[in-house]
Order: sequence, then C-alpha cells, then structure tokens
Amino acid sequence: MPPAPHDTLCERAVPDRDQEGFPVELLQPTSWEDALEARRAHPGAVPINGGTDVMVELNFDRRRPEHVLDLTRVPELREWAPADGGLRIGAGVTYTRIVDELGDRLPGLAIAARTVGSPQIRNRGTVGGNLGTSSPAGDGLPPLYASDAEVELASVRGTRRLPVAEFVTGPKRNALAPDELIAAFHMPVADGPQQYAKIGTRNAMVIAVCSLGLALRPRDRRVAACIGSAGPTPIRATGAETFLGGVLEEAGLWERPRALDAAVVQRFGELVQWAARPISDVRGTAEYRSHALGVLARRTLQWAWSDYRREA
Ligand SMILES: Cc1cc2nc3c(=O)[nH]c(=O)nc-3n(C[C@H](O)[C@H](O)[C@H](O)COP(=O)(O)OP(=O)(O)OC[C@H]3O[C@@H](n4cnc5c(N)ncnc54)[C@H](O)[C@@H]3O)c2cc1C
Repeated sequence: MPPAPHDTLCERAVPDRDQEGFPVELLQPTSWEDALEARRAHPGAVPINGGTDVMVELNFDRRRPEHVLDLTRVPELREWAPADGGLRIGAGVTYTRIVDELGDRLPGLAIAARTVGSPQIRNRGTVGGNLGTSSPAGDGLPPLYASDAEVELASVRGTRRLPVAEFVTGPKRNALAPDELIAAFHMPVADGPQQYAKIGTRNAMVIAVCSLGLALRPRDRRVAACIGSAGPTPIRATGAETFLGGVLEEAGLWERPRALDAAVVQRFGELVQWAARPISDVRGTAEYRSHALGVLARRTLQWAWSDYRREA
C-alpha cells in the first residue's frame, strides 16, 4: 500500500501493540504546518500536549485511539508574544511558564496555574490541554472567562477565533472541529487586580470542588467573575458583576476607592451563589458548593479590592 501523504511530513514511531493487539500509531510532526496536515489526514487522532489528561484516559482504557498526534515537537505551540494589544499564548505553554514568564501580566491565570496539580504536572500541563479537555473544573478556564479570552483554532482550511465561552459547549465538550487544533489563546494584559481561589478536598493535587476567578477591570470600569466546577461549564456571574460594577460607578469608587460596605460584599457573594448551577457528586454536595462559592466570592473581592486601593 502506498504511504499516506502525511508520511513525508511526520516522523512516525514504530506502532506499539497493546496487550490485545490494537496498534497505536504515534504521529510526531515537527512544525505547525505538518501538525495541521497530520490532523487533516487523521481527524480521529488524539492530540497530546503535556499528556496529563490524555495519559490518564489511555491508562484507564477510556480511550483507544488508532493514532496519537504528539504536539510536543511543534515549536510554534510553545511560543507567546504580544499581539493585537494583548497577548497570544501558544497552546503548548506550560503552567510553570505562565507563572514564571507571565505572572506579572496575567496574575489571575498565574494564581490559578499555581493551584494545578503538583510541580511535575505544572511542568507538563498546558492551558491548551485544559481547553482541550473542557472540564468545568479546569483551573485555567475561569481566569480566561473573566478576561474574555479568545481561543485560536486552526486547520489546513484556515484560522478562526472564538470567545472562550463559545468554545466550551458543555462538560468536556467544545467547538473544536475534527480537523482543527488549538493553536493559542488570546488575553488582554491585566489592567487591574485579579484573583482566583479554589476549594478542594485537600490542600494540593486536587480537582476543584468549586472555584472562582475575579478580575477588576478599571479601564472599561467592569468587574468580571467566573465560577468553576459548579455547572456544566464555567459560568460568568453576570448578576454579581453588574451589581458590583454599578456600586463602584455610582459611588465614584473607581476614582476614590475606599473600603467596601459589608452589605455590598455580602450581596456580591449571594449573587455569585445564585449564578451557580452546582450538582452533588463525589467531591461535594450542591449545598456545600453553593455555600463555598459565597465564601470565595467575598474573599476574592476583598483581596482584589485591597490591592486596588493600595495601587490607586
Ligand atoms: C495528578 C494530576 C493532577 C491534576 N491536577 C489538576 C488541577 O489541579 N487542575 C486542573 O485544572 N487540572 C488538573 N489535572 C488535569 C490536567 O493536568 C490539566 O487539564 C492540563 O491542563 C492538561 O494539559 P496537557 O497539556 O497535559 O493536556 P493533554 O493531556 O495533552 O491533552 C488534554 C486534552 O486536550 C487535547 N489537546 C491538547 N492539546 C491540544 C491542541 N493543541 N489542540 C487540540 N486539542 C488538544 C487532547 O487531545 C486532550 O483531549 C491534573 C492531572 C493529573 C494527572
């Protein structure tokens, strides 16, 4: 049989035969162009970046792909740069690099990145992979929602950008077409304090029971809050955002920040709770998630507002 066209583009590892005799072929492109061509030729191939989600799926036999598309040799995915007044961050930039290289510009995402797994997971895992998995508990997602980030998708047909809230369509579902790959995500540099907090069943190496990302955005006089792990997707708490934005505007607090009234902080917490759509599962009950979100909302607001007052 003649070789498939992508054979000239990718290195192919010798097929592994698992115990039951199914071959798993590893496609290893070394450029973005070749990766897109391999994706076109094998739309069923499972892309792998850090592998911290994919390898769990394979090890537990939840997936049995014929092809795995290894993206770790594609240098373009590991780059980030200023673009369109913000930042374009390649899908293969790890959590460790986000903390080390972008912590000053994307503080909310960096705080969230510090909560992911362990140093080993942060050295391998990527926000691109978090987007690919599209779990409502993904720690990278609430900060992206709170900054109105966009996801850049590419195929041999071309490139498109989607707001992250349109990219994630349901629990572990997204708008990625079979021939597309996640190239990057785009985020504005923070123009005000950002926070992220998460509740887990222990202090580290834990999937969020619930979480909250908060961004104060003085440039456009807005507040953005996104709930994680308490609904089918991350959820923007729009009622809470509008309420707090209105209070800050009407009282002139953006220009002359002073301590927030306790009633305002309390109300913000309640509105965040109301926006959530929690379920009960092995990690926590719906009631606990709702209660904890109120606490996280009050806490992150007070932290972010203290920072804002200090910087004003
Ligand atoms: C021990 C452990 C602890 C963890 N702790 C946390 C935690 O605290 N918080 C958290 O959010 N997650 C956690 N995770 C899950 C995981 O680390 C994250 O979801 C991580 O962001 C995945 O990134 P990755 O690069 O390893 O993705 P991969 O495993 O390589 O891929 C994940 C998914 O994205 C797809 N994909 C990857 N890259 C692309 C691309 N460029 N284009 C299209 N699709 C792509 C893959 O096909 C797959 O479906 C943990 C995992 C482990 C094993």
